[in-house]
Amino acid sequence: MAEKRDYYEVLGVDKNADDAALKKAYRQLAKKYHPDVNPGDKEAEAKFKEASEAYAVLSDPEKRAKYDQFGSAAFDGSMGGGGMDFSSMDFSDIFGDLFGDLFGGMRGRGASRNGPRKGANIRTSVRMTFEEAVFGCKKQVELTVKEPCKTCNGTGAKAGTSPVTCTKCGGKGQVVFTTQSFFGMVQNVQTCPECGGSGKVIREKCPDCHGSGYVAMRKRYEVEFPAGVDNGQCKRMQGLGEPGVNGGPKGDALVEAVVQPHPIFQRQDMNIFSTVPLSYAVAALGGEVIIDTVDGPVSQPVKPGTTTDTQIRLRGKGVPSLRDSRTRGDHYVTLVVQTPTKLSARAKELLKEFDKETGDSLNAVERFKAQKAAGGAGAEPKKKTRKKGLFS
Ligand SMILES: [Zn+2]
Ligand SMILES: [Zn+2]
Repeated sequence: MAEKRDYYEVLGVDKNADDAALKKAYRQLAKKYHPDVNPGDKEAEAKFKEASEAYAVLSDPEKRAKYDQFGSAAFDGSMGGGGMDFSSMDFSDIFGDLFGDLFGGMRGRGASRNGPRKGANIRTSVRMTFEEAVFGCKKQVELTVKEPCKTCNGTGAKAGTSPVTCTKCGGKGQVVFTTQSFFGMVQNVQTCPECGGSGKVIREKCPDCHGSGYVAMRKRYEVEFPAGVDNGQCKRMQGLGEPGVNGGPKGDALVEAVVQPHPIFQRQDMNIFSTVPLSYAVAALGGEVIIDTVDGPVSQPVKPGTTTDTQIRLRGKGVPSLRDSRTRGDHYVTLVVQTPTKLSARAKELLKEFDKETGDSLNAVERFKAQKAAGGAGAEPKKKTRKKGLFS
C-alpha cells in the first residue's frame, strides 16, 4: 500500500482543528468528490474514501488521540492490536448525519438508488414523402403504451389483497452489504433486489397484469411533423414511453421521420438540388427553361451561349427552417445541355447546314487529309518534336 497522507493534510486543517472545523472541511471535500457527483471517476472515488477515512479517525476523540501519538501506524495493525476496525464503520451513517440535506435530493438520479426514476423512451418510425417533410405533415402511428391496470388499480396485487412490506429490506427499498476495499471492510447501500426499491412486494399477483400494475395496449396517435423536418429526426411525444419507476414520470415516445428519396430533388439541410435538361437551341440562342420546384414549376430566363453545368439559384425555394417556417433555404439548379437525338431527316439536313455555317466540323478530317497529301506545313503533329527534345 502506498504511504498514507497525513489525515490533517488530507482534510486541509491544522492539528488543533476543532470538531466544527473538521466537519466543515470534510463536508466540502465530500461534496466535491462524492460518487453521486462524479459517477465512474476512480480518482474522485479514491479522494472521497481518503477524506472519509481521515474524518472517521479525527472526528472520534479516542482515535484522534491515538493517531496524534502514533500516526496512521496506530490503525494498520503494526502496533500490535488496536488497529482501526473499518468493518464497523457505516459510511451511510456518516452521510446520513452530514449530508441528509445535501444529497437527499440527488439520490434519485443515481441508477442504483431507489428514488423515482423516469421510464425508458420507446422508439418508432414513420415514412413520409419528400414534400411532406418539406411542408410538414400529420401522420398516424401505432404505439404500444402501458396503462395502469383497471383490475388492480395499478397496484399489481390480486383483488382483495394488497402489496405487503418487503421483508428483505424492511420496506426501505435498500439493502446494506459489506465489501472488502483497499482500506478494510466497507458497507455499501444497494437497491433491494427483492422489491426493486419500492419497499413493497406482491404476494398474489393480479391475473390481468401479472403483477406489473400495467397492461400494454396498441393505440393510434396522430403525430404532427413541422415543416422542414429531415430524415432521421425524431418527434418527441412526452409521456407515451415506459412507466416510471417508484413513482417517477413516464418516458417519452420518439417517432423518427423516414423521408423517402425524391426522383428529382435532393436535399442538404435547408437547400434543394436538382438538374434540369436544357435544349441545345435554348442554350445557344437563350430563352426560357421550365424548372420543377417543390412549389410547382417556374420559368427561368436563360442567357444566349449558356454552357452545360451552369447553376441557377432560386432563392427561397428550398426547405423551411424548423425554427421559423417563413425562412426558407434555396433551390440550386444545374442546367445540363442536351445533345439532340432521334433526329428526323429534315433535322439532320438542317444540322448539316448549320455546321457548314459554323466551322464545317463535319469535314475537318477530310480537310486535314487533303492538306497532308499536298505537303502542307502545320499538318505535322506537334508531339514528335517534343519527343525529339526529350532524347537529345
Ligand atoms: Zn392488475
Ligand atoms: Zn425490498
